[in-house]
Amino acid sequence: MSPAQDLLASVFGFDAFRPGQEEIVAAVVQGQNTLAIMPTGGGKSLCFQLPALVRDGVTVVISPLIALMRDQVRGLHEAGVAAGALTSGNTEDETQAVFAALEAGRLKLLYMAPERLASAGTVNMLRRIGVGLIAVDEAHCVSQWGHDFRPDYLRIGDLRRALDVPLAAFTATADAETREEIVARLFDGVQPATFLRGFDRPNIHLAFSPKDGPRQQILQFAAARKGQPGIVYCGTRAKTETLAAALGQAGHAACAYHGGMDPADRRAVETRFQRDDGLIVVATVAFGMGVDKPDIRWVAHADLPKSIEAYYQEIGRAGRDGAPAETLTLYGPEDIRLRRSQIDEGLAPPERRAADHARLNALLGLAEALVCRRQVLLGYFGEEAAPCGHCDLCDTPPETFDATEAVRKALSAILRTGEYFGTGHLIDILTGNPTDKVQARGHDGLPTFGVGREFDRRGWQAVFRQMMGRDLVRPDPERHGALRMTEAARPILRGEATIALRRDTIRAAAARPAVRALVSDEDAPLLSALKAKRRALAETAGVPAYIIFNDKTLIEMAETRPETLDQMARIGGVGATKLDRYGAAFLGVITGAVADLPHPVRRKLAGRGAGDIYDRLMQVQADLARGATGQDKPMSCSASLIAKLAETRPRDMSALTRLMGERRAERFGTAFLDVLAEG
Ligand code: ADP
Ligand code: ZN
Repeated sequence: MSPAQDLLASVFGFDAFRPGQEEIVAAVVQGQNTLAIMPTGGGKSLCFQLPALVRDGVTVVISPLIALMRDQVRGLHEAGVAAGALTSGNTEDETQAVFAALEAGRLKLLYMAPERLASAGTVNMLRRIGVGLIAVDEAHCVSQWGHDFRPDYLRIGDLRRALDVPLAAFTATADAETREEIVARLFDGVQPATFLRGFDRPNIHLAFSPKDGPRQQILQFAAARKGQPGIVYCGTRAKTETLAAALGQAGHAACAYHGGMDPADRRAVETRFQRDDGLIVVATVAFGMGVDKPDIRWVAHADLPKSIEAYYQEIGRAGRDGAPAETLTLYGPEDIRLRRSQIDEGLAPPERRAADHARLNALLGLAEALVCRRQVLLGYFGEEAAPCGHCDLCDTPPETFDATEAVRKALSAILRTGEYFGTGHLIDILTGNPTDKVQARGHDGLPTFGVGREFDRRGWQAVFRQMMGRDLVRPDPERHGALRMTEAARPILRGEATIALRRDTIRAAAARPAVRALVSDEDAPLLSALKAKRRALAETAGVPAYIIFNDKTLIEMAETRPETLDQMARIGGVGATKLDRYGAAFLGVITGAVADLPHPVRRKLAGRGAGDIYDRLMQVQADLARGATGQDKPMSCSASLIAKLAETRPRDMSALTRLMGERRAERFGTAFLDVLAEG
């Protein structure tokens, strides 16, 4: 085993590298300059933390986010690694402790905010302590044209020259321009070893739904995930507050978060979200950069994001620990109108506006996709993929129909009314609804009046929305959102092209989502017990729950049920230090719970038949635990006895008594025989 692989298991408790990590770690360990572009949640931090342990000297980590640095330092401490941070968030004592550890040569990783680089003292200090590697997190902050520009990042190039050590830069932002800027500013224009990791996040389930009572849709989505931490993104500040209140009423722990709030209040929400393992934050996109919680289990969009990039970034906050996460994005014609007008009314130059429309179109194309969403999403980022089996369209392929005629009727209604009207009026014309407005304009005399009676209003709304989504028509901001035809629609109008639309979105609302669990029913009680233990330990230690063990680790524990510390050590995320600290406590939960939980036996029962009987026998025995009257002394049967009954199916009392003994047969026998006779 290589030293890196060894540390991966012993310190970090992972049994394998995530895709891409191994090559990056190897390059960084060898001392090459590296630039790694990996999606959020891809596991960037390990790519400098692990080399830091292998290489001589201190690794300096520059990161723009104080909360994130503190979090990583805490995580490293838990894993038994000597790390410290110098940030403006430190107490004087903390800073002194970091300096003392540095002077004593004990630190392996030193996290630092970029502002520190402004002082000559810092650079001298770094020279003295023997830095072996510089790691730059969120390297795109060096880009002056990006949204996250941090002027102090421009000093990093000087630092590299001054220390003359290798530099490893990491970012999730991949566009070519930003990459070039990073190379220019951090590496003096010399191309480093570059790694571009895929964009797929296979553990995230993707789903879109047209708005249809959106508040109810969000409430249902949250209800099916009750107690799991999630984010609901909203288009407006006001909506974050009303939706948070509605979720609160429905019994969830929910907070609003937006840019108009007091900074202290915002920080309080951030901190609480980070620590709690069941809070919902209802937020505008202001809730973003600082969020580094790996166990966010779901993200919902109450309104359509502004572009496909924004969508990807926002859903990407879910499931960074690699455990299952779910997303739902709602959209409707109003969203499309709003996003288009924001672009049109913005101050950007025309080329930029055209590009923004294209990015919005890409997102709408994803919303109205007819095949696997992940294929469409990854395709946009230039990656080919097979149907994923993990999105709403793979779950339930949409029914499509030839909508060429319908679209032509709609276009004709638009053109014959001079491109001066919005959807409502156009639908009145198509369905032959002689409103005052229709009559006043003489639109009841048009040849298109009443030609679209094959759909009701709702049906036409779906057609118009999909037409907007395909950019066949666009709302014109100068005409109060009246629809105008685009060039893309001309071939359909002329009869040179056909078009298919989705039928299912024309029909009534989607069914209620089933309550989703992270594990099977059998393992769910154990998982909650493990989570409760984790919460207690986290509270005692004053750290977020995932610092102890992340969800994925607990899920693996619940599913594999280690019985010894040796077996526990083989679980992903259980390194040597954590095994020492927490192994016994969690083992206790598992072995304690297994006594009550019959499932390993249940699992062994071959075929559904025996399993069903087993379940019914269990139920009957629970009902009769205190006798038929509920007054008797408690009595129960072991899981293996019940399993034996389910397998051998004795048909009479004497056979039953032989297997379970007089006393139990007396209490349970008749009821059991009834179950066995049905089976
Ligand atoms: P990002 O790339 O967004 O910075 P992180 O470094 O925070 O991602 O890692 C995201 C999550 O993935 C963390 O919870 C981390 O513990 C986990 N992780 C990283 N590497 C591995 C691995 N090789 N195996 C399993 N989990 C990993
Ligand atoms: Zn799919």
